[in-house]
Amino acid sequence: MTNPLIAVKHLKKTFEKNEVLKDINGEINAGQVVCIIGPSGSGKSTLLRCINQLERPTSGIVDFDGTDLVQESDQDLAKLGEKIGMVFQNFNLFPNMSVISNLKLAPMRVKGLSDEEATKIGMKYLTSVGLADKAEAYPNSLSGGQKQRVAIARALAMEPQVLFFDEPTSALDPENVGEVLKVMKTLADGTMTMVVVTHEMNFAKQVSDEIWFMADGVIQEKNTPAELFTNPQNPKTQDFIGKVL
Ligand code: ADP
Ligand code: MG
Repeated sequence: MTNPLIAVKHLKKTFEKNEVLKDINGEINAGQVVCIIGPSGSGKSTLLRCINQLERPTSGIVDFDGTDLVQESDQDLAKLGEKIGMVFQNFNLFPNMSVISNLKLAPMRVKGLSDEEATKIGMKYLTSVGLADKAEAYPNSLSGGQKQRVAIARALAMEPQVLFFDEPTSALDPENVGEVLKVMKTLADGTMTMVVVTHEMNFAKQVSDEIWFMADGVIQEKNTPAELFTNPQNPKTQDFIGKVL
């Protein structure tokens, strides 16, 4: 057995008096795809943000490739941060920059790549999401699906060890969802390690090695999609699956 890439141990997060994450435990192996499902407000986004340290956990351990991120200084986290890519619901593209400039920014600023190197890598990943012809376009001229594919390419351009997605298709018009899921499925079928918060149950079924069902700040049940969707054990999982399928 090799060590997991990410091991979350006894993770807790409290906002004021609101205990949002209650003793979360889970492991993600390199190359695995984990989908996190559950009702809104259950703590899914907070969990992603506490793993990648966009939010500081109240207590617990987030072991990333042998380093506990919770114990790291902000300065050291900046270096580690580039190893975890993140794709948000609302794309978070810079509207005043062309698509290729969006992709080049972090590789140049954070990794110190030259303009030429960053352009080459940027074009490689833009091509991989089928948008090489949009390199000079501005985000506002793109559809939601195209914006999200650019955001995925931008995350990939940092060549992270793992990619987190927080409801990447929730802000899209229905006709744009498929093209984004297709790009994600191609990544998942490759070697990319992915953690995906999603309401797209068919997608979760198709690509996940494991599904984590969250409710009330607790991972209520973890299982393979085949088991979790056909034979949920926890009454809360049963209730949720009954509503969404
Ligand atoms: P989900 O992504 O499953 O919908 P969230 O992680 O966004 O759930 O939110 C879980 C709970 O944490 C909610 O009650 C929300 O109000 C609370 N919460 C999330 N972020 C903050 C914050 N920055 N400050 C205070 N409360 C927060
Ligand atoms: Mg959320």
